[in-house]
Amino acid sequence: MRIRYLKNTFGYIFDIKKYSVNDGPGIRTTIFLKGCPLNCLWCHNPESQKIEPEEIENCTFRWHPQNNYSSKNVIGYKISLDDVIQEIQKDILFYEESNGGVTFSGGEPFLQFDFLFSLLLECKTRNIHTAIDTTGYANYSLFEKVYDYTNIFLYDLKLMNDELHKKYCGVSNKIIHENLKSLSSISDKIILRVPIIPTITDTEENINEMIQFISKLKNIREIDLLPFHNYANSKYEKMKRENKVANLVPPKEEDMQKLKERFSVLNIPIKIGG
Ligand code: SF4
Repeated sequence: MRIRYLKNTFGYIFDIKKYSVNDGPGIRTTIFLKGCPLNCLWCHNPESQKIEPEEIENCTFRWHPQNNYSSKNVIGYKISLDDVIQEIQKDILFYEESNGGVTFSGGEPFLQFDFLFSLLLECKTRNIHTAIDTTGYANYSLFEKVYDYTNIFLYDLKLMNDELHKKYCGVSNKIIHENLKSLSSISDKIILRVPIIPTITDTEENINEMIQFISKLKNIREIDLLPFHNYANSKYEKMKRENKVANLVPPKEEDMQKLKERFSVLNIPIKIGG
């Protein structure tokens, strides 16, 4: 009864990425929901930040040409639950063959909670593996509600110092860290994702504090170190927004290997990339 009611749900997304291999295990479809409570200086998905679709004046670039739902100069679109499920179902054979599934990413998927929850329920009834890629910046009760319908949480950990987190990500990290402690105390479903942003998140102090913090958590399944890249430069240009990290140089492979070695003291599988 509840599921039938929820079928009327609509949400705002800005992309559906097929055959993704960097957003959780196996081959996945990643649904990018719009809206993010953070405002990271290095954001690689600036088009995710506002929850409503955004029209870009004088822009003829079609943001996401692989689907039939978006219009040319508008980022993001309203879409029904049924339409998203239809897209997800098209690749069910790939999920089965590769132990993959669906990842709900963003932005922050918890910002559109009813839509997210409905999607998770629908996936569960179809036995489709689900992951939520989250900033952790949400009321903990929402994690509790989705827990039984989510196979993996891809949980971002960025800056340990609260003042720096406010400076570079726009919000306090307190709720993010508290939620992570609570979730990890009951769950082995967490993969931590650490963006490696040169001079910002890769400092001696931040890495040390992070390793110390993670060492006190239980049940972390894996840590993914995500090297900064500047693929988002063209998005900022098209959106006519200032890119404050346009000149930042991505970390070298050897730097990533050194970081991997440092995290290895935790005895948790470490991966470079998603
Ligand atoms: S949490 Fe992710 S989507 Fe949100 S502002 Fe930061 S980088 Fe961008």
